[in-house]
Amino acid sequence: MNSILITGCNRGLGLGLVRALVNLPQPPQHLFTTCRNRAQATELEDLAKQHSNIHIFEIDLRNFEAYDKLIADIEGVTKDKGLNVLFNNAGIAPKSTRITATKSQDLLDALHTNTVVPIMLAKACLPLLKKAAQANEAQPMGVARAAIINMSSILGSIQGNTDGGMYAYRTSKSALNAATKSLSIDLFPQRIMCVSLHPGWVKTDMGGSNAPLDVPTSTGQIVETIRKLGEKQNGGFVNYDGSPLTW
Ligand code: NDP
Repeated sequence: MNSILITGCNRGLGLGLVRALVNLPQPPQHLFTTCRNRAQATELEDLAKQHSNIHIFEIDLRNFEAYDKLIADIEGVTKDKGLNVLFNNAGIAPKSTRITATKSQDLLDALHTNTVVPIMLAKACLPLLKKAAQANEAQPMGVARAAIINMSSILGSIQGNTDGGMYAYRTSKSALNAATKSLSIDLFPQRIMCVSLHPGWVKTDMGGSNAPLDVPTSTGQIVETIRKLGEKQNGGFVNYDGSPLTW
């Protein structure tokens, strides 16, 4: 994998993914990372000082008008090599969970950040992903060629829902899974892989302190897993350890 764009890298799993990737024996040549506020992204800034392959972009991903500049900046770096991987990681989990407490604004906010953003960013990255697929024509489907990884959640699994509630979060991730499937079909001619991934239940601001996994354990395995994904997993839903999940 020559280049990867990861969203939401100032904390949590996004930051963990950047750490896991720069520590690989052969790290990506370019790690494009996004955060909403660079001044507050001190851990990411510190990492970038140690690793010159980390590029930081300040962007609120709900601002779709800013995508053209982001893509142009990435293209300015990778030139005719394109972008191998878009990792849609940024997400939100509104607090209201039970039906009696559900607010329409929470439903809209979750859909905006967790579904609309990944789809629009995939659309914006398409020319770069196609370029990478072409430049790596000899590579099989996977991250060494071109791929979109959507950070989903087991809470978006309809079959796996035994507890109810969490209307905003669950529906936004189920909808993201539907988008993964469509992208995998639409981009199959270029052999651009598209997969939904569940990171496990992880100790982050979102996952909370009761989560069984820590960030390095989850992100270390995610990085191992995504490097092994191929045509078999295209259009599918996988766990952080690579095992398949049901929709
Ligand atoms: P955190 O809450 O720790 O981090 C979320 C990240 O997303 C932050 O970097 C945040 O930036 C960013 N983000 C949110 N909204 C926007 C936006 N509009 N524009 C740009 N960036 C934004 O969550 P996690 O690290 O735990 O979660 C990462 C992903 O993994 C999410 O998609 C989540 O749904 C998924 N996930 C997490 C699980 C867990 O147990 N932790 C389980 C299953 C799935 P900022 O700091 O500016 O808010």
